[in-house]
Amino acid sequence: MPLVLKLARSVSEILERKILEIIKDVGDKGIIQREIWKKINVDSRKGIKIIKRLERMGLLEREPLIQGGRKTYILRPTPKVFKKIRLPDFLEDIPCFYCPYLHQCGSGEHDLYSCKIIDKWIKEKILRENHELSEN
Ligand code: SF4
Repeated sequence: MPLVLKLARSVSEILERKILEIIKDVGDKGIIQREIWKKINVDSRKGIKIIKRLERMGLLEREPLIQGGRKTYILRPTPKVFKKIRLPDFLEDIPCFYCPYLHQCGSGEHDLYSCKIIDKWIKEKILRENHELSEN
């Protein structure tokens, strides 16, 4: 898989982790779906995709709720979410994990494909890998 696509997936995975952390923290009392958008500063369209993916993975449950005349959902963790998840090693190296602009990338305000931080990281990674190959 091309590195840029891996990174796009990684941004989504980081947002998934943030959502799961929030849901784990609230526990059985649950949290209204739109409160999550505010907490992680992501737009609802992107957020709903992630929530639905997490629901399909069996990590959270959505219960329909009418609030202020509008339909929404209350989200609660399932027991599966409390099991330890081991991240692939390559994720720990990616600068997005430590980036203050992650929320903007997750919500589409910032273009991942023109990110100078990622661009620099990719170039350095290629140089490092080429150097390692030449040493072997
Ligand atoms: S601004 Fe760049 S480094 Fe930061 S999260 Fe977005 S893509 Fe990753």
